[in-house]
Amino acid sequence: MTADRCLQPGLIPVEHARQQLLDAVAPLRDTETLPLEQACGRVLAQDAGAQLDLPPCDNSAMDGYALAGDGDTFTLTGKSLAGHPFDGTLKAGECARITTGAPLPAGADRVVMQEQAELAGEVLHLHTSAAVGEHIRRRGEDVCVGQCLLRAGHPIRVADIALLAAAGISHVTAIRRLRAAVLSVGDELRPLETPAAELGRGDIYDSNRIALKAALAQMNIEVIDLGCQPDDPGTIRDAFMRARDSADIVITSGGVSVGDADYTRRVLEELGQLEMWRLAIKPGKPFAFGRLPREPADGGNAGAALFFGLPGNPVSALVTLYQLVLPALEKVRGVAESARHPRLQSRARLINPIRKAPGRTDYQRGFTYRDGDGLQVVESAGIQGSHILSGFARANCFIVLSQDSGDCATGDWVTIEPFLGPLV
Ligand code: AMP
Ligand code: MG
Repeated sequence: MTADRCLQPGLIPVEHARQQLLDAVAPLRDTETLPLEQACGRVLAQDAGAQLDLPPCDNSAMDGYALAGDGDTFTLTGKSLAGHPFDGTLKAGECARITTGAPLPAGADRVVMQEQAELAGEVLHLHTSAAVGEHIRRRGEDVCVGQCLLRAGHPIRVADIALLAAAGISHVTAIRRLRAAVLSVGDELRPLETPAAELGRGDIYDSNRIALKAALAQMNIEVIDLGCQPDDPGTIRDAFMRARDSADIVITSGGVSVGDADYTRRVLEELGQLEMWRLAIKPGKPFAFGRLPREPADGGNAGAALFFGLPGNPVSALVTLYQLVLPALEKVRGVAESARHPRLQSRARLINPIRKAPGRTDYQRGFTYRDGDGLQVVESAGIQGSHILSGFARANCFIVLSQDSGDCATGDWVTIEPFLGPLV
């Protein structure tokens, strides 16, 4: 093999690039108030505090009997059902029928499960003794009124929706949705609406744009779809200007390498600045980052749109999106550093040899599972070409091979990164 066999000077190591991108972007500040029902996937702009204690009163954790005091037998004097509390007070030696979640009657200090007691007429006999406090859920043991439930910068997930609803929060103040303009560049690209019979020789479907849109939708990012554009600098310039004026960020794929028809970088440099290009990553070397400043006369969005130029090869586009763009977008969406998606890595044993040339960090596609002995193993998801989508679709993890490493043998322990979030 040729150039890849030696270390490639001038390429930015992936870790540096990821950090450089994080340092180069700033969180959105605009906020809006939303009903809780629309808040899943949004990022909190303000701390959310509890309106009440949770549980709001002492209540039963079981279906059974609320007991007043110690003893083997109790006199049944009432019932407390969820939604229908018992208003009286139990005296020592008395009990009340109680259901899960029903308020604990005044005077009761313990609950016995109904399976551990037997009612004969009005007299309850316990099979086992009940200790003070048993099966009682205490007022405020989950949350106290006024307590901060979730901090600003928290991305709201399903469990958070449940917590906020339980604590009486019907509306939240969230950071407004990030707007991303997405476009593809390439004379050979055809939109998916084109019937296969009408594709010319060498034409391909524009798979990147639709995949990028799916990934961004999973991050609750609003997408402005600017279609596929031909390899023509004038048309690309017009599309970039529309993108920059309508969105916070611009994500393109294709035309960012060094080929005769690669105009993406050139147009970016003409309209704005190229801040990063060519990374020591495989696949995805030609990744570019920069900014497209908006014309002050626009009167619209001030500042500049962030520009992410992904390589055209479909696997490269998704690998760079996942490894480089999404971490930066989390910050732009307002997610606090402590709440960002963890990049979980673990180790697995290779069950086949893999080829790797020193010089770039490889994100090979793999399939990991536990073998019959409970050992975490990983196999390569087939040919590793940056155009091989079937292997990517079959894979469930990246096999991360460091910049300097070479070939790996069967039995070697390697680093894996399970697919999470938008790659699931
Ligand atoms: P490029 O980055 O423009 O040199 O393209 C590299 C490879 O990716 C070529 O084989 C292109 O046909 C392919 N490609 C570029 N854009 C797309 C796209 N939007 N969807 C699928 N394949 C693409
Ligand atoms: Mg091209």
